[in-house]
Amino acid sequence: MKNRIYMKFILAYLLFGVLSFIAVATLTSDLTLNHLKEKKAESLYKVGNIIVSKYAAGFYKGELPTDNFHNHLEAMGAYLSSTIWIVDSEGKIIISSEEHTDLENPTVIHNFDPTISGSSYYQTGNFYGMFHENMLSVMNPITSNYKIKGYLIILTPVSEIVASKDRILNITYYTLAVIFLLSTIIMIAFTFMVYVPIRKITTAANEYAHGNLKYELDIQKEDEIGYLANTLNYMSSELSKSEEYQKKFIANISHDFRSPLTSIKGYIEAIIDGTIPPEMQEKYLNIILFETERLSKLTSSLLTLNDFNTKGGMLEISNFDINSVIKKTASTFEGTCTSKKISIELILTGHHLYVAADMSKIQQVLYNLIDNAIKFSHNNSIIYVETTEKNGKIFVSVKDTGIGIPKDSLKKIWDRFYKTDLSRGKDKKGTGLGLSIVREIVQAHGENINVISTEGVGSEFLFTLPLSKSLSGDI
Ligand code: ADP
Repeated sequence: MKNRIYMKFILAYLLFGVLSFIAVATLTSDLTLNHLKEKKAESLYKVGNIIVSKYAAGFYKGELPTDNFHNHLEAMGAYLSSTIWIVDSEGKIIISSEEHTDLENPTVIHNFDPTISGSSYYQTGNFYGMFHENMLSVMNPITSNYKIKGYLIILTPVSEIVASKDRILNITYYTLAVIFLLSTIIMIAFTFMVYVPIRKITTAANEYAHGNLKYELDIQKEDEIGYLANTLNYMSSELSKSEEYQKKFIANISHDFRSPLTSIKGYIEAIIDGTIPPEMQEKYLNIILFETERLSKLTSSLLTLNDFNTKGGMLEISNFDINSVIKKTASTFEGTCTSKKISIELILTGHHLYVAADMSKIQQVLYNLIDNAIKFSHNNSIIYVETTEKNGKIFVSVKDTGIGIPKDSLKKIWDRFYKTDLSRGKDKKGTGLGLSIVREIVQAHGENINVISTEGVGSEFLFTLPLSKSLSGDI
């Protein structure tokens, strides 16, 4: 099964080579021989016509002596590498280019029949048994006063025509061998450049399909195959990352669920078996309530993230006034702000500032950022929420003067479940999911979010939104 197509291809290629040689040896050989015979006969016939019109007529009229005529025929015969005969109607050879004619005892061609060749002006064979080898013969009638006086016959060995056909065929064989050699080189190059890499890719795809995502595909090429190999390598590394990520994600969720559940279980058991006396129960029930809230917050955050993963961040884009959404979101924190003596200062550009975005999701972004700013701010401080317009973009900034984020944590805060060591004491309810939700939402809009923070000084989160093209918003 493994190399089937390739083996078929090689077999087809070899078969093609062998058949090409056979075709040249048979068909081409026959066609060439016939062609050469025709050409030879044609040229001999023309020469024959010239001899007939130039000498034979004179010979029969008695104007050209026999010896003279013989000399002419001898010269022509040598030039044409052929035998030339003058034969009368009964088949007697009157003059031959080969030998001096014995007019008393001329050689007779038995059963001589000048009509035998029919419409063809040449024939091959041993010429009425006169030769031991195959001869090509051309016959020109010699006429005088509208009567046939005799025939001029030119005979040439077929073996000479075969020899020149073989010379032509040899050239064809050499050419074919060179073509075959070149195509073999091309095929070997093709094998190494295309077939071998494709086999490697198939093996890799097989490994990935069987779950071996660590399999490394080693193809260093710049062409389409190299691109495909790089894509596969990238795919496998992403898949293995996501596999690791899934494991880490589940471990984090399990951990975050287990600790509140263990404390809830412990306190409830202690209340039931009386370890906690009734007068102390309220305190522990409050702890249970706190842990339950944490679990419910964790669950709803996970649901939001899951929603994003399954729906692929589908957004309901509308035109709305971001200033008014900021005001509304900030007002929901009034209670917390009062208790922490924190004020939220809004520095908003224009009366209305329309953006094209998913309003409820942007509200969630603002909620998470302002919630963090309050959580990580000291009492009696100010939080600034600012909007600015620049180059067709709206910049929204949420800035606090709280605990700040350590430098080495700045990149990690966007990861799911990540919390800085600094913040753990300040926010026990935190899930570490808020900022990953924020980033997913902003990126789903095709926008950016950044953070500038100095430990102990404060943090600023800045994200962009597209300015609405139509000024008439939905709000
Ligand atoms: P959490 O629910 O824990 O707030 P987030 O994903 O919103 O989760 O934030 C992740 C971590 O980033 C927080 O635990 C905190 O350590 C840090 N962080 C976020 N916002 C701020 C901020 N404004 N000031 C200081 N630290 C912050």
